[in-house]
Amino acid sequence: MTAKAGKYELKLSSRLGKVKPSATMAVTAMVAALRAAGRRVIDFGAGEPDFDTPEHIKRAAAAAMNAGETKYTPVGGTHKLKEAIVAKLKRDNNLEYEPAEVFASAGGKHSLYNALFALLDDGDEVIIPAPYWVSYPAMVLLAGGVPKIVETEERDGFRMGPEAFAAAIGPRTKAVILNSPSNPTGGAYTKAELGALGEVAQKRGVFVISDDVYEALTYGGFRQEHILNACPQLREQTLLVNSVSKTYAMTGWRIGYVAGPKALIGAMNKIQGQSTSNPCSIAQAAAVAALEGPQETVREMVREFESRRDFVFERLSRIPGVSCFKPLGAFYVFPSIASYVGKSANGRKIESAGALCEYLLKEAGVAVVGGEDFGAPTNIRISYATSMDNLREGLDAIAEALGRIKL
Ligand code: PLP
Repeated sequence: MTAKAGKYELKLSSRLGKVKPSATMAVTAMVAALRAAGRRVIDFGAGEPDFDTPEHIKRAAAAAMNAGETKYTPVGGTHKLKEAIVAKLKRDNNLEYEPAEVFASAGGKHSLYNALFALLDDGDEVIIPAPYWVSYPAMVLLAGGVPKIVETEERDGFRMGPEAFAAAIGPRTKAVILNSPSNPTGGAYTKAELGALGEVAQKRGVFVISDDVYEALTYGGFRQEHILNACPQLREQTLLVNSVSKTYAMTGWRIGYVAGPKALIGAMNKIQGQSTSNPCSIAQAAAVAALEGPQETVREMVREFESRRDFVFERLSRIPGVSCFKPLGAFYVFPSIASYVGKSANGRKIESAGALCEYLLKEAGVAVVGGEDFGAPTNIRISYATSMDNLREGLDAIAEALGRIKL
C-alpha cells in the first residue's frame, strides 16, 4: 500500500504477477461479445459435462436442507461424507483408507490448492507433464513453488516416460502431478506405465499427486487403474485427488476430496480451517448420495461421451492438416494444428493456435481453446461436452473454414 500526492494507490501482491489470466476466459469473453452482437456461436470450450445432476442427488440436497443441515460441519467434511469417500475408494479403486485419511474441500481444484500450500516451500519444484491442465502451474506458482514442465508427444499418447521423469528430478524437486485421463489430451497411463513412474518416484523420494477427477470417464474398454495399485509402497508419499464434479455432473456443487498420509491431511485441515472452513453442508449431503447411490447415470453419461468421442475423432481425422490423438478418457480432443500455424487467412498470418481460434470463432462461429495455456502452442482443445447436433454443425463449419486456408 503506497500513497502518491495524497492519492491512494492500490498495489497488489507481486505473487499475482507470475500468474497469467487464462486463455479459456479470453475465449469466453469473445463468445459473449459475439452473442451479444446477435451472432450464433457453437461453444466447444466447456470444461464440464452438459448433463444435469441426477435427480436422486438433488433430492438428497433438498432433504438435507429441510432437515436443517445448514450449519458449519467439521472442516474436512461430515463423518458421513468421509465414510462415503472411504467406501468409494474401496469399491472403485480397491484402496483402503480410514476416515482420518480423507478430506473434502470446495472442489478438486481447492483440494489441489490446499495440498500445494501444505507441501511447498519457496523454490520447491513440482514436475508437471505437458500438455497440462492450465491451473497446475498457476497453483504451484501461487504456493511459492516452481513448475518444472516435462514435454510429452502425441506419438507417445501424451505420456511421460520414466526416463523423462527421472531426468527432470533435481535437488529441489518436491512433487509430481499426474493426471490420468488427462485434461486436455484425453491421454491416460496404463497400470504398467504408472508402475514404472511410481518406481522412479519411490527411488528418488518424489511426492505423487494423482489427479483422478476424470477416472470414471474412460472409453473403448480402457479402464483407469490407480498408481497406488501399481505401486502400493507409494502409499505414504501419494495424495489421491478426486471430485464429484465430472463423474456426477456436479461442477457447481463444489465438492472435491483427497486421500493421503495423515500428516498431510492434518496440514490441509489447518489451511482450510483458517480460510474457507468446511465445504457447503448441503453439497456434502448431495455428494454422499452421489457416491453411495445408483451409478447407472454415470454409465449412461460415459456411453454418450464415448459415441461423441468416436464421432469427433473420426470427423477431425478427415480434415487435411489436422492430426489427432484418439482420447482414452475425459471429454476433450486435442488435435495438432501445427500445419496451419504460419499460414495466411484473410490476408493475415496465423501466428499461433490462439490466432487460429480467433479465426475459427469469427469465420466458423465455433469457440475452441488455443493450446498455449495448456503448454502446447500448436494444438487446440475441443470439448465434446455438448450435443451431437452441435458437434456435427460445429465440426463441419471448422472443416469448411480451415479448407479456405492454403496449406
Ligand atoms: N483437475 C482437472 C484436470 C480438471 O480439469 C479440473 C476441472 O476442470 C479439476 C481438477 C477440478 O475440478 P473441480 O474443482 O470442479 O473438482
